[in-house]
Amino acid sequence: MRQGVLSRYKQFLDITSNTPMIDMGEGSTPLVRSKFIERQLGCGELYFKLEGCNPTGSFKDRGMVMAVAKAIEGGSRAIICASTGNTSASAAAYGAYCGIKTIVLVPSGNVAKGKMAQALAYGAEVVVVEGTFDQSLEMVRNFSERNSIALVNSVNPHRLEGQKSAAFEIVDDLGDAPEYLFIPVGNAGNITAYWNGFVQYHEVEKSTIKPRMMGFQAEGAAPIVIGEPVLEPKTIASAIRIGNPASWQHAIKARDESGGSIGSVSDKEILEAYKMLSRREGVFGEPASAASVAGLIKMHSNGIDFSDSRIVCVITGSGLKDPDLASEQNDMPLHQLPLDMDAMNRALGSILE
Ligand SMILES: *Cc1c(COP(=O)(O)O)cnc(C)c1O
Repeated sequence: MRQGVLSRYKQFLDITSNTPMIDMGEGSTPLVRSKFIERQLGCGELYFKLEGCNPTGSFKDRGMVMAVAKAIEGGSRAIICASTGNTSASAAAYGAYCGIKTIVLVPSGNVAKGKMAQALAYGAEVVVVEGTFDQSLEMVRNFSERNSIALVNSVNPHRLEGQKSAAFEIVDDLGDAPEYLFIPVGNAGNITAYWNGFVQYHEVEKSTIKPRMMGFQAEGAAPIVIGEPVLEPKTIASAIRIGNPASWQHAIKARDESGGSIGSVSDKEILEAYKMLSRREGVFGEPASAASVAGLIKMHSNGIDFSDSRIVCVITGSGLKDPDLASEQNDMPLHQLPLDMDAMNRALGSILE
């Protein structure tokens, strides 16, 4: 049986004898070597960390298992979050697993179909709010304080605590930290968590180096890059459509301490990387996830030489989360044929030549 995050990394997490060892098999996700982009860009070594392989299809499960365990340890009987989708899917799943009430607030019209389907399937109370993610987060912060139920957004420190396990896994798999970590940045919790994980592992000499943290926001939702909140963040990558990141200062600290950078990529660059990943690598990530790869391609075309470097791109969530976008973006022909062998030979014979 695959060990979940809490038992696998118990000694590095804030776990007491009263913490319930919740385990849905989260974490221990594949680190897959690139077949195409590595050669294309002339990178030393390039790997993808496939976080879509978590139980609900995104890295959010790593933090959620810890946050829910701590909520239960603290006596909470309900959890609440605001979400662009993946946090609510994850909260709903762990809430169902633990038998506690889950309330999720999602901004109206902005949640990918797969994520909404998950929240409903797991039986959460779903509240659609006429507003942005940032405004919904304000509301749940307020509501959770008044009603003393556990807030499981990434402002909850236990979320970041659990999420740092992904950095541990990368070092455990590679035998050392990579030179670079490329990662999409939305609310900026994940880049913060990874950095904490790499620092902690370095302190206990599990690694000899720490990676440069290379964060990427979408151009229309790039508050950290432009240096001020974005009131109406816009991007097709809904998981990073965030205008006022909760972990803004932590992300800047991670960037500066690691000698990394936080930049932006356009929706066009995100979509190109999204398609390249699935077509050339067999990795179907969600659009937000492709921002890490788009960032790598952009830095390479800006003249940065990665030929001596080991690089990990975090593919934060599964492409199945957003089936509408996948179909919209598809430009492969759909062959429609009668049930007729000759017609099939005519239509498909030529593509095999
Ligand atoms: C949440 C999420 C992000 C952004 O992570 P932050 O911690 O908010 O910066 C990126 N990609 C996916 C798929 C996500 O679910």
